[in-house]
Amino acid sequence: MGRKFFVGGNWKCNGTTEEVKKIVTTLNEAQVPGDDVVEVVVSPPFVFLPVVKSLLRPDFHVAAQNCWVRKGGAFTGEVSAEMLVNLGIPWVILGHSERRQLLNESDEFVGDKVAYALSKGLKVIACIGETLEQRESNSTMTVVAEQTKAIAAKISNWDNVVLAYEPVWAIGTGKVATPAQAQEVHADLRKWIHNNVSAEVAASVRIIYGGSVNGANCKELAGQPDVDGFLVGGASLKPEFIDIIKSAT
Ligand code: PGA
Repeated sequence: MGRKFFVGGNWKCNGTTEEVKKIVTTLNEAQVPGDDVVEVVVSPPFVFLPVVKSLLRPDFHVAAQNCWVRKGGAFTGEVSAEMLVNLGIPWVILGHSERRQLLNESDEFVGDKVAYALSKGLKVIACIGETLEQRESNSTMTVVAEQTKAIAAKISNWDNVVLAYEPVWAIGTGKVATPAQAQEVHADLRKWIHNNVSAEVAASVRIIYGGSVNGANCKELAGQPDVDGFLVGGASLKPEFIDIIKSAT
């Protein structure tokens, strides 16, 4: 069974209403392969989700960048999975390294968030990845396996999960992983899933790469057998995001 190419745009904490509308116009006018070939999901900050959803072409979808770990209530500043469902937002990014690092989200907390979001019907882009220090001490696979295990321990159905391998040293640094580095981790992760979840999930789950992906480096990365797409930060705010979408073919 083929894995449909997936391209996510993580807009992070950027944009004004005008800027966001401009990006949406660019996306809406773009000629890209059909949604039978590539799944495109853009993730604006919470406050812009309704406007982006209302203006965006129907073959592209929206994702939130986070949501609360369980049912809403007295959690000032948080947004619940239920609220996203209520707004018709189909996707959520969870466990991004910026949240793991700056907001101390633990592997277990991320696992709980993924499980809760899935239980409410959201689809999840679950992020994992090692720091430079961890890579240099040869613990990349140990780290990403631990992060994946914390998710696997809490869920039984992976149909609505996309796993985003994002080495922390490559995020926002312009230092992209080489195609060989990305392929190696993706293949090892798939093997880990085969051995610890199931052969079916290993064959079907999409593992996408994130970290300084741009219009120039996407094609070669996309050609790797275990790279099923991208999660794009900086370049997703620019017209070159279209070129990244086109790397699906
Ligand atoms: P970047 O970010 O493309 O700007 O490196 C990727 C991400 O954080 O998802």
